Amino acid sequence: MGKQGVSTQSGPAVVVIGDGVAGAGTAFALARRGAAVTIVDAGLPGRATDAGAGIVQPWSTNAGGDFYELYAGGADFYPELIARLAEAGVHDIGYRRSGALIVNRDAAVIDEVEARVRVRAAASRTAGEVRRVTDVEARELFPPLAAGLDGLHVAGGARVDGRALRAGLLDAAAALGATHLDATAALDADRVLTAGGEPLAADAIVVAAGAWTDRVLRPLGVRVRVEPQRGQLVHLRVDADTRAWPSVHPVAPHYLVPFDAGRIVVGATRETGSGFDARETAAGVRQVLADALAVAPGLADATLVETRVGLRPLPDGDLPTAGPVEDRPGLYVNTGFGAGGLTMGPLIGDLLAERILAEMS
Ligand SMILES: Cc1cc2nc3c(=O)[nH]c(=O)nc-3n(C[C@H](O)[C@H](O)[C@H](O)COP(=O)(O)OP(=O)(O)OC[C@H]3O[C@@H](n4cnc5c(N)ncnc54)[C@H](O)[C@@H]3O)c2cc1C
Repeated sequence: MGKQGVSTQSGPAVVVIGDGVAGAGTAFALARRGAAVTIVDAGLPGRATDAGAGIVQPWSTNAGGDFYELYAGGADFYPELIARLAEAGVHDIGYRRSGALIVNRDAAVIDEVEARVRVRAAASRTAGEVRRVTDVEARELFPPLAAGLDGLHVAGGARVDGRALRAGLLDAAAALGATHLDATAALDADRVLTAGGEPLAADAIVVAAGAWTDRVLRPLGVRVRVEPQRGQLVHLRVDADTRAWPSVHPVAPHYLVPFDAGRIVVGATRETGSGFDARETAAGVRQVLADALAVAPGLADATLVETRVGLRPLPDGDLPTAGPVEDRPGLYVNTGFGAGGLTMGPLIGDLLAERILAEMS
């Protein structure tokens, strides 16, 4: 992006470190409330937002509690986000509610998922109709699927293009006066912020550096329990109109997510302990393809377009860390979205922006 414009905003000066969905979402939300925002990003390999599959379908998860509330709230926030982006001149983030299809060979597994999805969908603004589908209907919805799968269709299941979402949030923030610096940000023990060696003045700092957040904060003696978890996924292309195909969820950690123009994203590995190693590996690609072809053997002849690798900011526990740093006035953190940041990130960025500006007024 690299926009070096001068902020036209008159509110407090806020520097956001990191421009993945967490930083870009916070920056946009701050800029639309009048803050003078500077976004600094180092362009590190393994940015999770660039790799994310883009599923926005929280209702079938077996996670509950506060995590589920944020996850489901994030999905329901999307229509509002899209309207706000449009006001700032951004009209496409690759979001579409083309449905989600939860499948399994064991009907009892689908019975159990159906029970929780029906209750949750009834409380959601975006989940839409939920219906049981036969094996034949499932293959009409997603033709490459294996035979013999029982299914549950959630009409409002959505997907978003993580790269388009990030670009849209940054473009909208820029349209509202935010400045973007391509630089590595560093905090020292006196909490002086530099970007590429240049000091930056700020009334508030938001560290939204994904899996790197703990590294950025460590010179201050502040620890955030987040570690990189590598995820690899593969983009395939089929010769079909995939725009209306639902995402497929086999009640397992892997999935298939159709986009436009025949693109189908299949993934993903969850490599806890990977460290900051953002390589694609032979074993990772083999696992992703084996899982995908087991549930959708009709993809065997698809073109392999590319592999993407991202480092998820894996929290220690379920919940993200989004809020002020104790005893450090003006310093905030926004990270720990794990496997759900494309769903939750924009909402949590918005809530955090509101809080920061309320605390500074
Ligand atoms: C394979 C995969 C599949 C996924 N699928 C989904 C999905 O289907 N649905 C869903 O909701 N979520 C999904 N996710 C999760 C989601 O992508 C992440 O939770 C989210 O993108 C994290 O965003 P972030 O902004 O916290 O981190 P990132 O996107 O990693 O951004 C962090 C940024 O900080 C910058 N940075 C770091 N240190 C510094 C520094 N010192 N100075 C300046 N900049 C710095 C980096 O350059 C980077 O751009 C997936 C993730 C992966 C990897």
